[in-house]
Amino acid sequence: MSSHHQLDVVMYHFVRPIEQSRWPGIKGLEASAFDTQLDYLEATYDVLTPKDAIAALRGDRPLSRRSCLLTFDDGYKDHFTHVFPRLQERNLKGIFFPPACAALDRHMLDVNKIHFILAGGSDPKQLGNLIDEAVRAHPGLPAPDTFRDEHHHAFGYDTADVIYVKRMLQHALPSKLRRTLADDLFAQTVSSDAGSFADDLYCNVDDLREMHEAGHMIGSHGNAHVWLDRMNADDQRADIFNSFRLFDAIGMPNSNFTFCYPYGSYNQETLSCLEAMCCVAAFTTKPESATPGSDGLLEIPRLDTNVFPPRAQAAPFAMTA
Ligand SMILES: [Zn+2]
Repeated sequence: MSSHHQLDVVMYHFVRPIEQSRWPGIKGLEASAFDTQLDYLEATYDVLTPKDAIAALRGDRPLSRRSCLLTFDDGYKDHFTHVFPRLQERNLKGIFFPPACAALDRHMLDVNKIHFILAGGSDPKQLGNLIDEAVRAHPGLPAPDTFRDEHHHAFGYDTADVIYVKRMLQHALPSKLRRTLADDLFAQTVSSDAGSFADDLYCNVDDLREMHEAGHMIGSHGNAHVWLDRMNADDQRADIFNSFRLFDAIGMPNSNFTFCYPYGSYNQETLSCLEAMCCVAAFTTKPESATPGSDGLLEIPRLDTNVFPPRAQAAPFAMTA
């Protein structure tokens, strides 16, 4: 009876052959499982185009049944190689959110350096020891034990050693030190040529233009893929504005753009800034279904691919008639 059908915005990161690859430790969706998931989504939902999904979220387009939208973060080459052809084959459209610094400057995102350092087969305990050495050598920092008390704790599926490496390199250490340290560990354990690694890892402008021309939406994921809620309003605005150079390179207008918060991080200033720039829709990592017409268009919740089959044991929601 309900006329208020919800919209599930599905969030993807890595989608690739993982088990048989050089990086079996990378957390992502197996390409073959993506096929299974698309089968499930097409059978269960109306898979909306980005345009229709945004109209529905605005309350301008009634939904006749439960619907979903597919979104892909970080501009991985995976999306061009493994996702794009599958969507084309099924005539589905998604939104892709590449950070400008990865797509244009071929910079490794900090978060990806950490992923591959941990997936490279190095012992996380050993990595933690190397981090402690750097902490001891850095003037003005507390002793490693102080950091360990706060950050060496198992969380979710990760062991305490893994969490320690992640937190120290993501935010616990001063930014300059953690960047240098991540670069050093990446060079030692993954590749001495971060530039060509990034070239293989991320879509380039030609890939993105091809996807855009095929009807997919390219949104902004910021320029440098930073935690916006830790920056002042001017720096936030500068990062978002800087991301528009990717739209220019692709040949897209900057108006009516969509945005995806790196790390799901934003605050009131980010919202004001996006509103002033006339952003039409911005996506968070708040794990909920979206309610068309009621959620703010700049705080659209999303559900991780993991909560849907085949990974999830059962359909996350009762099927609605
Ligand atoms: Zn991201």
